[in-house]
Amino acid sequence: MYKDICPFCGVSLVGDKVWDHFYNISKDEAKADTEAAKYGATKEFGHWNRAIAIFDRQCKKTIALECPDCNMRWDK
Ligand SMILES: [Zn+2]
Repeated sequence: MYKDICPFCGVSLVGDKVWDHFYNISKDEAKADTEAAKYGATKEFGHWNRAIAIFDRQCKKTIALECPDCNMRWDK
């Protein structure tokens, strides 16, 4: 599952704010609200997660998550 910190090296996995990402693209608060909502985020709440999803092509699903700093993996 997605975690706020890496269970191995303890680095923060909380990334940039989702809303800010879409606002920076559109410079339009209404559009940022709409796009962020698709990710369950609002102007006040919701960050990207820095963990890298490891996708299994045969299972066609994400099977693990990987820390971008220490490259350790844990089960999804
Ligand atoms: Zn780590």
